[in-house]
Amino acid sequence: MDQKNENSSNPLVLDGKILAQLVRIDLKQRISALKQSSENAEPVLATLLVGSDPASATYVKMKQNGCKKVGLGSLKVEMPEDTTTEQLLAKINELNADPQVRGILLQHPVPSQIDERACFDAIDIEKDVDGVTCLGFGRMSMNLEAYGSATPKGIMMIIEHYGIELKGKNVVVVGRSPILGKPMALMMLNKHATVTICHSRTQNLPDIVRQADIVVGAVGIPEFIKADWIKEGAVIIDAGYHPKENCGDVDLKNAAEKSSAYTPVPGGVGPMTITALIAQSVESAEKFYK
Ligand code: NAP
Repeated sequence: MDQKNENSSNPLVLDGKILAQLVRIDLKQRISALKQSSENAEPVLATLLVGSDPASATYVKMKQNGCKKVGLGSLKVEMPEDTTTEQLLAKINELNADPQVRGILLQHPVPSQIDERACFDAIDIEKDVDGVTCLGFGRMSMNLEAYGSATPKGIMMIIEHYGIELKGKNVVVVGRSPILGKPMALMMLNKHATVTICHSRTQNLPDIVRQADIVVGAVGIPEFIKADWIKEGAVIIDAGYHPKENCGDVDLKNAAEKSSAYTPVPGGVGPMTITALIAQSVESAEKFYK
């Protein structure tokens, strides 16, 4: 698809919901083909939920539903709030050793007594379909084969599908978290964008954003990025989601019309996060059974 008409007044809506449906059709066919070609292929994504945070429980459920929609099995593992690091590591090692498990998702955040980084890094690289291990991150940053962190990976799928050019473009990523801003910046750098990463100590943020051909909002503050920071014709990728306010990290109500293309909230980046996770799980299963 062509990158949007920068002279037109109507920005292109980068619809993650429709793209997720398209990708799911392909994934469903691939899982079905895998099961036909290998008699004992019953791959599953294991979801690990520690504690009883209702938002985390909802996210895990959405991920399991995502598996179901494409015919991928899911194994739900729930552990109590007082789980120790050692207990969680033992469970992860058990899942690493299970050949049926082709992907492991440890829902973030885990209760504070747990060493989350150690637990993420215990996930077998072949099963790190959510791109959370240091090894996977390092490989991705070196442009080597690795699964990406699901949200930035989903954004890259949107960018590729809609033919948004990254080569030589000025990208400003606002946010530098390990699961979103940082991997996002590296993925775009790997595609030859010139990337600036901003964070809470960045000075003159509005002026930096004004230079951007592509802006990624990954801040976690409702409508933080204002319309007057957006250059005419820029592409807006809003990774934020605030259910209470039903908005993202960019003031899309006012900023969208200045852009050449934007991801709506909801219905932009959100649906592609789960889709990227499921796509990487299917890829992992294909690699194992081929
Ligand atoms: P996070 O871990 O809280 O990171 C937020 C980042 O924003 C940090 O790097 C922080 O800088 C930066 N920041 C905070 N205040 C700032 C300010 N005033 N100016 C500039 N930068 C500032 O959040 P996250 O997990 O990356 O999530 C970010 C957003 O994405 C949230 O809205 C979240 O809901 C959304 N999200 C969506 C999905 C999805 O599936 N769609 C998945 C994950 C996250 P410092 O590093 O300096 O503290």
